[in-house]
Amino acid sequence: MQVSRSLFDEVMVPNYAPSPIVPVRGEGSRLWDQQGREFIDFAGGIAVNCLGHCHPALVKALTEQANKLWHLSNTMTNEPALMLAKRLVDNTFADKVYFANSGAEANEAALKLVRRVALNNYGPEKTQIIAFKQGFHGRTLFTVSVGGQPAYSDGFGPKPADIDHAEYNNLDSLKALISDKTCAVVLEPLQGEGGIISPTVEFIQGVRALCNQHNALLVFDEVQSGVGRTGDLYAYMGLGVVPDVLTTAKALGGGFPIGAMLTTNDIAKHLVVGTHGSTYGGNPLACAVGLAAFDTVNTPEVLNGVKVREQLFRDGLNAINAKYQVFSEIRGKGLLLGAALSADYAGKSRDFMLAAAEQGLLVLMAGYNVVRFAPSLIIPEADIKAGLERFEAAIAKLVAATAAAKNAG
Ligand SMILES: *Cc1c(COP(=O)(O)O)cnc(C)c1O
Repeated sequence: MQVSRSLFDEVMVPNYAPSPIVPVRGEGSRLWDQQGREFIDFAGGIAVNCLGHCHPALVKALTEQANKLWHLSNTMTNEPALMLAKRLVDNTFADKVYFANSGAEANEAALKLVRRVALNNYGPEKTQIIAFKQGFHGRTLFTVSVGGQPAYSDGFGPKPADIDHAEYNNLDSLKALISDKTCAVVLEPLQGEGGIISPTVEFIQGVRALCNQHNALLVFDEVQSGVGRTGDLYAYMGLGVVPDVLTTAKALGGGFPIGAMLTTNDIAKHLVVGTHGSTYGGNPLACAVGLAAFDTVNTPEVLNGVKVREQLFRDGLNAINAKYQVFSEIRGKGLLLGAALSADYAGKSRDFMLAAAEQGLLVLMAGYNVVRFAPSLIIPEADIKAGLERFEAAIAKLVAATAAAKNAG
């Protein structure tokens, strides 16, 4: 059977609009489509493929586990799950781990947990959850309602109640909402989908202080920023602020579905037997791959390498911008970077993405004003250089076409 883009329209629910490119093979930071056309991958499956495609350590972990045992129910003690959990608690603030299969599910667990902790410790009035505008936390009805883009949560009937949204990097707007009825404040310690927005140190420390003042738990959604993405194992480590609950997914499995919620003993104890669960959560295949990914990323060489690569991206993008003046700012941290478009190109990030693909380069958008980069954390420097050359070629064409259209118009 020949698979093409048109089959998507025939058999798939139309909630996505995929590109006509049909990648069939990947190795490191390169992908090949059905016709054998090669692409350099600066997108990384949206910050998932933290070790590129088909990394040998992950292939080995997956195939070894596939020949041993695929699945166990949560009524059994599970070797790979406990090994990964041990690794997570040994390397973070957390004492306890809950496994899920995605970012949204990890967040769903976190949201249910904070509500239960507040109920047990303070009674039924303390249910308010404060999140931030433009924040993204997944697509289940609870997580999408906590997300700060009403366009994503409207139109599905009544939403979970008592959720408010403050402005990111604006402590006063949080102060205006927070009270002793707040059970938790939820945020991304680097907003991804919302446009690659870093928190200021004053903001993030101020959020922590306000949570302490009102006995509200602080939840960091590190689904996109975690597992080495910012050059720290988790972004909180680079901010000097420790959350009470942390969620991680995307890069945690390096391309195999897994998510996790991390927290302290004192908080975890409220999710007693029967309060929450997931059939596939802690799946041995997922956890075996997750362990290999975690151990490969969590080394000084890889984490420092992220910082070196960030600088290569920044220098390259700034050099392109010096020639073409298409960006207003290069922002983000580590290998979660955004090129915000200048006023002349406002709203055109999709055009940049399509122009890049024409040149054999995959990039992402973060809204319509930002081109996003989330490549493999170990992308070879030569691939960064070659990819940026392709990006420059794409921009040269786009700038020329825009100028021609202006002259004609
Ligand atoms: C991608 C993302 C999610 C959702 O993860 P899924 O695996 O798609 O459910 C949640 N939070 C953040 C910050 C994300 O970037």
